[in-house]
Formats: sequence, structure tokens, C-alpha cells
Amino acid sequence: MKKHKDLLEILKANDMRITPARRFLLQFILDHKSAKITLKNITNFLEKTLPGVNRSSIYRNIEALKKLGIIQELSLPSGTFFQYVLDCKVHHFYICKACGKASRGNEKLFKKIEAALKDVHGFAKANLSIVFYGHCSRCASIL
Ligand SMILES: [Zn+2]
Repeated sequence: MKKHKDLLEILKANDMRITPARRFLLQFILDHKSAKITLKNITNFLEKTLPGVNRSSIYRNIEALKKLGIIQELSLPSGTFFQYVLDCKVHHFYICKACGKASRGNEKLFKKIEAALKDVHGFAKANLSIVFYGHCSRCASIL
């Protein structure tokens, strides 16, 4: 399990300065690891914690954390969310287009896709960061 200190190390290793905004943003993400965080949650928190914080710098920091693979952006029918994914093995979700139910994928599918990637493309150690759209079993049975 990664801690705040580990995340700061990742930033440093990528030549990013540890600013108060980045420090608080990482803490907020770690405190809400299992939640789907909205952009509004993040901006509300940072504006309360660091009055006068620049909104575009919040957006830039979120983009930077996405690039580093610390968080993932998730577009669901109910909106756009951010989720902590750094040390989670499974980074895929499947979303029902009919009822909007979003589920996190399990490791069984991850292993199969990983094996197929290796088999078809000779590609190893992939991180999956995928969203599948389709119909859940309940909706598929009605349609
Ligand atoms: Zn459904």
C-alpha cells in the first residue's frame, strides 16, 4: 500500500516540485482511495485548505497525476470521476450503457487480457486502464 511519502517520491523522481497544492491533492486522493472523486470535490477541498489556490494549477496537477499513473479519469454516464489506481492491479471498469451501473473489473479478466497482449503483440507488463461500455446482464436480458 502506497503512502503519502511514496507518492511525493514519485513526483520528485519526475522532477516535479512538492508544492503545498500537490501535497494536499495527494493526501486528498489517498484519503478517498476507494471513492470516485469529482473535480468539484477536489477543487472544493483545495480552495478550502489553501485559500487563493489557482484553479488552472489544480487542473494541471490533476493532469500530471494522470500522466504519472497515480489517478485515472473515468467517464461515466453520471459524470467524470477520478480514482486512485497506482497500486491497484486492476484498472478496468465496465459500464452499462442502459442503467449506468459502473463496476470495477476483476483480476481474472486482467490476467486473460495480459496473456493475450503478450501472445498477440509480444507486449508485457501492461497496466490496464480501460473502460468497457456495454450492457450488464440484467439490462441485456430486458433488451
Ligand atoms: Zn444495466
